[in-house]
Amino acid sequence: MAGAKPTIYKWVLHPGGSGVLRSVGILPDGTLHNPNGYPEDLVRAAVEAANERRRKKRSEAAAKAAATRAARRERKVAEVVAKLKAGGHLSPGDYCEICKKHLDDPESVERGIGSDCWQHLLSLLAEAAGTLDPGPGA
Ligand SMILES: [Zn+2]
Repeated sequence: MAGAKPTIYKWVLHPGGSGVLRSVGILPDGTLHNPNGYPEDLVRAAVEAANERRRKKRSEAAAKAAATRAARRERKVAEVVAKLKAGGHLSPGDYCEICKKHLDDPESVERGIGSDCWQHLLSLLAEAAGTLDPGPGA
């Protein structure tokens, strides 16, 4: 991606709430894309309102996605902790068992869990200290 993308909308809501403005936008240099010749301040207000709605929607979507990921990871960590506490063992793998991220370093591959998730898991295990058989190699 190179520089700011011009924000041109096929249509935006009329700021006064009556209908839409077609093919309007604000170019990176601040000038208007306004082939239909709407009043300039109307175009700016409408485009800025549309930009604002778009920003809000994006950040809400991002926050929701992050929360979903965190919840899923939390569940996976709890599963692995339960497995270890039940006497299960970690199995090596190229992808993190918890977040599915690709693993590169041998230590992570060996346990099948990335270092971030591992730290998280260890802190949960610490809360449950004393109930875990460390297993071979520990
Ligand atoms: Zn992970």
